[in-house]
Amino acid sequence: MGRLKDKAIVITGAAMGLGYAAALEAAKNGAKLSLVDYNGESLEKAKTVILEQYPDTKIITLVADVSDEAAVKRYVDETVNAFGTIDGFYNNAGIEGRQAPLIEYDLDVFRKVVDINLMGVYYGLRYVIPVMQQQGYGRIVNVASVGGIRGVMNQTAYVATKHAVAGVTKNASLEYGRYGILTNAIAPGAILTPMVAEAFKQVNPADPKKAEAEYAQANPTKRLGLPEEVGKLVVFLLSEDCSYVNGQTIAIDGGQSNSY
Ligand code: NAD
Repeated sequence: MGRLKDKAIVITGAAMGLGYAAALEAAKNGAKLSLVDYNGESLEKAKTVILEQYPDTKIITLVADVSDEAAVKRYVDETVNAFGTIDGFYNNAGIEGRQAPLIEYDLDVFRKVVDINLMGVYYGLRYVIPVMQQQGYGRIVNVASVGGIRGVMNQTAYVATKHAVAGVTKNASLEYGRYGILTNAIAPGAILTPMVAEAFKQVNPADPKKAEAEYAQANPTKRLGLPEEVGKLVVFLLSEDCSYVNGQTIAIDGGQSNSY
């Protein structure tokens, strides 16, 4: 049984972090999985671990860079060939870029962050939505960030692209709700994934654990979030249990973004 029984779910950035955690939770809930990542080696490892825990899960893995439009079209086509439908889409792959003051931000890094975090999310919607439109059903979860609803020091490119993801989410919800497609975004705070571990290294290269502990102190819950906690929210939003939430960017951050 499970919330996603027999649903075909595409997850980008599935090899590690939030994508991988959601893949595990979706497998636990009975989903068929199309796992997409540009890191093929880690993707195969992720598949192996998921199958160890949930051996009956149908899984295909597709190596693709989400900032490459042709590669996105391919992962969508191959998922439809394998499963016939795309019932849920976790549009998750993204990068942080480098931390730097706005006027010193490296332009090549800025463009790369836009290509992956904004264009990658947009290409995914552009090719997945027509499949869902034909089915008359779909659930989409884009990944924004608290950086998509608040400013974050020294992360201009990241914050700009994550606000853009929240905006694209609103438009997708307006334009495709009538086809039974519900589109939402999540806005995670600091969740302990490899990406966040790397960010703490940038904040305090000598002692990243200290940076992590200091960050946790500012959170109402006095801790960072866990990938599996995000996975549970994502599975709900990808399921039929989510039936009237549309166009929202939902913070999952222990309440920290409410603080002034
Ligand atoms: P991560 O670096 O731990 O994992 C990201 C995964 O995406 C990796 O497997 C990576 O190979 C893959 N990926 C990156 N760029 C790709 C591309 N162009 N094409 C295909 N695959 C690609 O990161 P994470 O922390 O799991 O972050 C996942 C998403 O969640 C990102 O969009 C990130 O901005 C967002 N997010 C994370 C946090 C957090 O605290 N971890 C907070 C807010 C938002």
